[in-house]
Amino acid sequence: ATTPRVAIVTGTSSGIGAAVVAHLREQGHQVLAVDFNPDGQVVAEAVGAVFHRADLTNADACRAAVEDAMSRFGRVDILVNNAGIQHVAPIEEFPEDKWRQIIDLMLTAPFLLTQAVWPSMRENGWGRIINIASVHAQVASPGKAAYVSAKHGMIGLTKTAALEGGPQGITANAICPAYVKTPLVDNQIADQAKLHGMPEQQVIEQIMLKNAAVKRLIDPAEVAGMVGYLASDAAGAVTGASWNIDLGWTAQ
Ligand code: NAD
Repeated sequence: ATTPRVAIVTGTSSGIGAAVVAHLREQGHQVLAVDFNPDGQVVAEAVGAVFHRADLTNADACRAAVEDAMSRFGRVDILVNNAGIQHVAPIEEFPEDKWRQIIDLMLTAPFLLTQAVWPSMRENGWGRIINIASVHAQVASPGKAAYVSAKHGMIGLTKTAALEGGPQGITANAICPAYVKTPLVDNQIADQAKLHGMPEQQVIEQIMLKNAAVKRLIDPAEVAGMVGYLASDAAGAVTGASWNIDLGWTAQ
């Protein structure tokens, strides 16, 4: 049987985050679902999670989310850093404000949330930090300077948290998926089609699945299943690692 835990998951209004919240609820955990999109309320409540609205590019909002979890549940055992956005443009034209927004949301917020949940995990001698990175934490693609930089940075944060957390019962791992069927990817298909001047179906086949041994998009539930494992008692020896779910992309 799974020990019931308290989890914070970010970016939960759609896609991978919504699937992670549903999966952790199925495992019997309490979940604070954090997102700036108010649609997240309905998504969270449908599976019995509590919704907390926050723009995680704001540092105080990151800390307030953890305070909310602490006041409701008295502890935080699991942190899943999932919220993310994409912007596709060549470096020469990449807008500085988009660069900063992506780094704030996808690297600084995971750091601030890790920092804020740490005391509770340390006091309980048990914690799980699970960072949803990307295949773009391992390899790059043109047009994605900010995203690739944030995701590569997230691996560094994961490894550092693993080293500091080891003696305190806190593990930290990253999951690195290739393309998952979510709204974020639907938007990218449209952006890439514009960037390369090709039809959307051609973008999927020739760009997105070009390096894939398994020629299909990934289901969000496949990522949620790995989060469930990494969050479990069984994964106590698993830390500082990057777990690819990448259709064989990085095998070549
Ligand atoms: P998604 O767009 O479906 O979900 C992202 C969520 O983040 C949304 O609910 C959105 O409202 C929320 N969000 C965005 N900006 C926010 C902000 N400032 N504050 C709070 N919440 C905010 O995307 P997804 O595909 O499910 O992606 C989730 C994570 O998985 C991201 O970190 C993404 O980089 C990563 N990822 C996705 C894929 C993929 O192919 N979809 C592949 C690898 C990694």
